[in-house]
Amino acid sequence: MKTDEIRKKYLEFFESKGHTRCPSDVLVPTWDPSVLFTPAGMNQFKDHFLGKVKLDFTKATTCQKCLRTGDIDNVGRTAYHHTFFEMLGNFSFGDYFKREAINWAWEFLTDKKWLAIDPARLTVTVYLDDDEAAEIWRKDVGLSADRIERMGEHDNFWPAGAPTDGPDGVCGPCSEIFYHDDFGDNVEIWNLVFTQFNRVGDPPDNLRPLPSKNIDTGMGLERTASVLQGVQTNYHIDILRPIVEAAAEVVGTKYVFDSDTGRRLRRITDHVRACTMAVHENVYPGAQKEKYVIRRLLRRAVLDGHQMGLRDPFLCKIVPAVVEQMKAAYPDLTETTDRVAEVIRNEESNFFGTIDAGLARIERIFTEMKADNHATVDGAEAADLYQTYGVPPEVFETMAAESNLAFDWDGYRRAMAAHGEASGKVAHTVMGDKGPVDAIKKVLHRVEFLGYETTEADAELKFIVAQEQLCDHLREVGRDETVTVVLDRTPFYGESGGQVGDTGEIVGEGFRFQVSDTQRDAGLILHHGHLTEGELRTGVPVTARVDMARRQAIRRAHSATHILHHALQKHLGSHAQQQGSKVDQDWLRFDFTNLAPVSAEQLQAIERDSIEQVAAAQPIVAQTLPLAKARERGAMMLFGEKYPDPVRMVSMGDFSKELCGGIHLDNTGEVGPFEIITEEGVSAGTRRVVALTGERAKEHAEQTHATLARAAEHLSVSLTAVPEAIRSLALNVRELKKQLASGAKKSDEEGKTKKSTKATSSTPTYAAVKAALRESARMLNVAPLDVPDRVAAMQKDLVDLTAQLEQMAESGELSADALLEKAETIGDTNMIVAETAGANPNLMRQLIDQIRKKGGSNAIFLATAVGDSKVVLVAGVSRDLVDRGLSAGDWVKEVAPIVGGGGGGKPDLAQAGGKDPAKLGEALKAAQATMRKMLAA
Ligand code: ATP
Ligand code: MG
Repeated sequence: MKTDEIRKKYLEFFESKGHTRCPSDVLVPTWDPSVLFTPAGMNQFKDHFLGKVKLDFTKATTCQKCLRTGDIDNVGRTAYHHTFFEMLGNFSFGDYFKREAINWAWEFLTDKKWLAIDPARLTVTVYLDDDEAAEIWRKDVGLSADRIERMGEHDNFWPAGAPTDGPDGVCGPCSEIFYHDDFGDNVEIWNLVFTQFNRVGDPPDNLRPLPSKNIDTGMGLERTASVLQGVQTNYHIDILRPIVEAAAEVVGTKYVFDSDTGRRLRRITDHVRACTMAVHENVYPGAQKEKYVIRRLLRRAVLDGHQMGLRDPFLCKIVPAVVEQMKAAYPDLTETTDRVAEVIRNEESNFFGTIDAGLARIERIFTEMKADNHATVDGAEAADLYQTYGVPPEVFETMAAESNLAFDWDGYRRAMAAHGEASGKVAHTVMGDKGPVDAIKKVLHRVEFLGYETTEADAELKFIVAQEQLCDHLREVGRDETVTVVLDRTPFYGESGGQVGDTGEIVGEGFRFQVSDTQRDAGLILHHGHLTEGELRTGVPVTARVDMARRQAIRRAHSATHILHHALQKHLGSHAQQQGSKVDQDWLRFDFTNLAPVSAEQLQAIERDSIEQVAAAQPIVAQTLPLAKARERGAMMLFGEKYPDPVRMVSMGDFSKELCGGIHLDNTGEVGPFEIITEEGVSAGTRRVVALTGERAKEHAEQTHATLARAAEHLSVSLTAVPEAIRSLALNVRELKKQLASGAKKSDEEGKTKKSTKATSSTPTYAAVKAALRESARMLNVAPLDVPDRVAAMQKDLVDLTAQLEQMAESGELSADALLEKAETIGDTNMIVAETAGANPNLMRQLIDQIRKKGGSNAIFLATAVGDSKVVLVAGVSRDLVDRGLSAGDWVKEVAPIVGGGGGGKPDLAQAGGKDPAKLGEALKAAQATMRKMLAA
């Protein structure tokens, strides 16, 4: 039976038993901080099990996309483990229990109408003292006692080991169904979990029966397909074997099951499939959390390829094969194939760039360790390897294990922390009681949020938390650490969905509490701030007042974010989906998917489009409706986002519909000025735009205008003529430098800034002003704000250069050629000893350089008087003379005392100063004599 058919049959079977078919949850449940990836079918129903949500049904069935990093080392080695796999499940929320769960599982597996597995192949396990389940297997199903095995809490309890080790909370025994295959394996295909207890504290007597019992089952789709298809490993089933073959072809080898290459190809198959599914949901490889998991999977697969001789990206070429096999169940995959392949290719090529050096280093480390009898890989070394060569520590650990070496994780984490980087390794968030806020949650389920309608409201002060403790009153005004206040209802928006929390004040009789931030925690809204007056007391009436001006600025930014999102998709394509956002006071940051930088033209079009939507003054409406309705109306749904049901949909005119809990304007026109400030990359495939609205956009525009005006002032041109004037200024500077370097004279026509007359006629549009400033900044390679200063600096350069040139002109025959003409030849060497009246040291050095550049063997000594109390001597010799052991430093040192000075320098160029211009002639003669001696030596 084909895999696609098993999936279909399972869901149909449980539908026929009254279950509601629910879609798979996303792979990365952003709403559940306790896991990075969805590990099982039950996770999306956690709140259903706990009775925290209103139940529209009490029986559900799903096919869930799962990813388990814990199984990573089994991949390729065991026949039955993947990282990414699909789990079929049926769930009861206080509805049916053990009897139905067991009977239905058996019926589905063995009935001719369904999977028709030979019952003789199946055995089951139950928890040690779960007589109830054992009884059902024996009596209802008719299994003989020898086919029902009793196992301990580590095998047949969920969570594993819970009775003894915890955690506290909902738990229960389970019963697993095993298939005995033709290859000698007993494979667990289905686990039935009976959540019937609440664990409270340590044993004994710590398991209390739950009033409402639940069922949670998980059947591995690939494992079931494997046994039904009679193949030796999951990797040989109809939807996986073609990927293995495709991998073999890309690698250029033959797939042989029981070989090193075979294992590698299976691992590659698994990892490419997992990464394809994840990148498709916009989880890109990166340095943290789930992104890091994807990076690690990809790099490990790259290493496998590398060990089979590959040196260029290859995983990306397997992506189409994955899509081909998975598209029946996940048709959306076909829309993102190219993007997914490109993201994977980028990550591969980065790693291929450093992998050889990384592996060589690892080899060296292992050899040295063996020689020194060290058995544990140094964690700091591993940290360095990750940072320098991108070798993930887990991969390093595996390679170490293959060489029988241990790995120092603590040392690794310490080293990474010292580098100020998170260690990447999957962190397990422990759920449980945490502190005063959790205590509040037990009493107060939900704080009523009034902020959509109003910014000021009366409420009751419910809780005060100071110094990590609940207290019923607080009187220390102005204490340093923040105090948290919880009300029964509040207009304050707690930070979420990218929108920052509100600030403002909470006042009551005789006190004032300044709110500096508002956060959300589950159903609670927490006001953080400081008591500035009087005494806080729980139970008193208060007035909560949000800082309205700030709130209004946040609303502008939030509505502008939706407008921008729409424009991005319109101009870049539907892939340009939100990856993250931050909405603050008239400031917004928006991250979205796009592989390449957004071109200047595209960005302009996006900005123009957004401004037009603002100008169109379209109404903004928020409404709460069932998720299905919102989808029907075409609301934008994001991958990786878990939406509540019902949802809040924010519509703007009829161009934008997003699901959003944030606070918006009533009309797009209220956004006011809007401007995109920057566009840049944040990580592979993710771009970031920062934009301003309202007041800040206005201020920014004024600043832009003023900056350009200052530059225009410096240049004495009109605003829009600034870039052109900068271009000619830059040309002039360059030209003068060239002239100076070649020793040419200053000509009267050149070297002067062309001055255009100031245009007084029309005022340019803001777009033109902005474009002019950007163009100027780009030409000068500075930030826009620095343009005027840079222009001023260049003008100063121009003045200096002109002066130098003038000086050069005044100093008469001061050119390299003129000096060379006066050279005295000694053997092969041109000796030039001359006074360069009027030249500054800079020019003297340049002259020496120019002479040397003309080639041949040269010894040059230039001297000049500055006023009547200073002398400058500069000497230089060509390379061949240096090689012969001559030194310009020695030369100068010999002569300088004559003019009452000293100095020195390098063998090829040296400088000295003196105090006696009257002795200049004598010094020049001495310079000649000295060089003659030096050459003769
Ligand atoms: P195992 O002990 O074989 O790793 P498990 O006890 O971790 O399995 P459960 O957590 O009970 O498995 O998951 C329910 C079902 O999901 C299993 O019976 C199995 O069919 C399937 N499954 C679990 N882990 C994997 C995996 N890594 N790859 C493929 N299928 C899996
Ligand atoms: Mg397992």
